Amino acid sequence: SSILSNVLPAPEDPVLSVIFACRDDPCPVKLNVSARAYRTEEGKPLVLEVVRKAEQQLANDLQGYLPIDGLADFNKLSAKLTLGDDSHAVEENRVVTIQCLSGRLRVVFVPNPTWGNHPFIFTLAGLCVEYFRYYDPQTRGLDFEGMLEDLGAAPSGAIVVLQSCAHNPTGIDPTLEQWEKIRQIVRSKGLLPFFDNAYQVRSTCLFFNLNFHGFATGNLDSDAQSVCMFVADGGECLIAQSFAKNMGLYGERIGTLTIVCTSQDVARKVHSQVLLVVRPMYLSPPIHGASIVTTILKNSDMYKDWTIELKGMADRIISMRQQLYEAIQARGTPGDWTHIIKQIGMFSFTGLNKKQVRWMAKEYHIYMTYDGYVI
Ligand code: PMP
Repeated sequence: SSILSNVLPAPEDPVLSVIFACRDDPCPVKLNVSARAYRTEEGKPLVLEVVRKAEQQLANDLQGYLPIDGLADFNKLSAKLTLGDDSHAVEENRVVTIQCLSGRLRVVFVPNPTWGNHPFIFTLAGLCVEYFRYYDPQTRGLDFEGMLEDLGAAPSGAIVVLQSCAHNPTGIDPTLEQWEKIRQIVRSKGLLPFFDNAYQVRSTCLFFNLNFHGFATGNLDSDAQSVCMFVADGGECLIAQSFAKNMGLYGERIGTLTIVCTSQDVARKVHSQVLLVVRPMYLSPPIHGASIVTTILKNSDMYKDWTIELKGMADRIISMRQQLYEAIQARGTPGDWTHIIKQIGMFSFTGLNKKQVRWMAKEYHIYMTYDGYVI
């Protein structure tokens, strides 16, 4: 008799189905455009030169278990990167940062739509997941009024998940003026903001071309960015920072959770609770990715090289959007396609429907998820 034969098949995952459909297509010229990661012109993952250099420096230098909350220097540098060198919260010792396994609390509100894993993660954490309006299919832009209305109706104490920039999956971000209104409503309603920082580096968004000048020269107007706006007001805030995209360390599973508290005393208590959560889960985080990131952040030459490679990725993505838009226009395709260049980051809601997505796969062997989501 078999116990495991009673296991039911898991529901189909929309992203995995695309991967499998493309994999099983015998056509030699096929393409999965929902591939979830940055790819080179040849369709290969990109390993940053600065990461290779850091790895060479680290050879033979990794040993032992890390503490429960991770590599201390990594946590310190990562918090500085996210919050800025001159963060009052850091200076006042009210920030708790722990090393986490990459991009990973009562009612939690997430954008509709959001990264597909968010609802799973929060449900598994025992939270009740609700949605706030975000995407307006009519304008292929932000439903800002709907978003404010839903946040305004959220119960006090609820967690609100906000993506700091390059929103997955829509590629649509609020403007700075809209962020300020969001901040006001979050604070006035007593909600707890939880930023998913999968694409942001310090005050600079990885794919926000305009801000790179500031990043490269170190002259950032840090208050002008979403996370910093929330931290600057002295209120509480959670930030999940990933190094998957910005350092190309996808497989290393390296990130941090930073919790900005209102006082050092609160931070101490929160830290003790966080250790208690980690201990039975994985006891101590992996060392390799944390060491690479630390090596790069610690060394000013390597840090500068990193920003240059980052800009290379960001510029290429912007240019690919432009090329796609121009190719669509050149063919006289009906409809308004300006959303392709208005959206930012790696993600684009193309506006294609299920039927059109199917047709693209059948006729051209180009695969994407059924909601027309391209990465
Ligand atoms: N959050 C968002 C919004 C994402 O898009 C992703 C990756 N697609 C993640 C988190 C997870 O990234 P990782 O676990 O690789 O850091």
